[in-house]
Amino acid sequence: MSVGARLVVLGKQGAGKGTQAVRLSRHYVVPHVSTGDTFRAAVRSGSEFGEKARHYLDSGELVPDEIVIGMVRERLTRGDTHQRGFVLDGFPRTVNQAEALAEMLDPGLDLVIDLEVDTDQVLARLASRRVCSDCGANYSVVENPPRYAGICDVCGGEVVQRDDDTEGAIRRRLELYERETAPLIDWYERQGLLVRIDGTGSPDQVTARAVAEIDKRQLAAGASS
Ligand code: AMP
Repeated sequence: MSVGARLVVLGKQGAGKGTQAVRLSRHYVVPHVSTGDTFRAAVRSGSEFGEKARHYLDSGELVPDEIVIGMVRERLTRGDTHQRGFVLDGFPRTVNQAEALAEMLDPGLDLVIDLEVDTDQVLARLASRRVCSDCGANYSVVENPPRYAGICDVCGGEVVQRDDDTEGAIRRRLELYERETAPLIDWYERQGLLVRIDGTGSPDQVTARAVAEIDKRQLAAGASS
């Protein structure tokens, strides 16, 4: 078993980021840090912070950088992520966030994984996507429905469509992805940290491709240190 990794997973909405981030966090035994999950939990809690976040989430807009960066900084200074590592899912989403992340980390990231899936395919995946409103587990009504309709296999919570998986919010999120997040791919590539992974096929196939690349990178880093 491999323990420890410092990873970022990038990809369009519906590329399988959440699914792969959870799988990689289990494989490397590190916390899964999802900014989207944290915001959704805050919205569900009805806190003042959650009410502020709801407006951004429901319309598909990005939460302002200073809020997200502060939240991630707080999470990455706790002992677990600091010592063993993390899989970041949904952060960074702008070059400004990536610069802030680089300043927070010492040592830096092992690898940034870009999950590549065509826009036509992500639109189909988003239309069929359902999530557990309690634990955030992901389902597809087409490929991977819960065993009992509407009930989470993992925790028995209610399985629903995300409030931001509406046509308008999906269009806006994909636009913002192209404008704000896609430039990060080149940004990380220039630093030699990026690996592109084919995000099509079964979740097992995609995880196996990602693990092969991460292990190769960790072995090379270990050999040169
Ligand atoms: P996700 O689950 O990653 O698709 O995120 C859901 C929503 O949370 C996004 O559409 C944004 O409104 C907000 N969000 C999550 N991560 C970030 C981030 N790094 N920067 C700004 N907004 C974010």
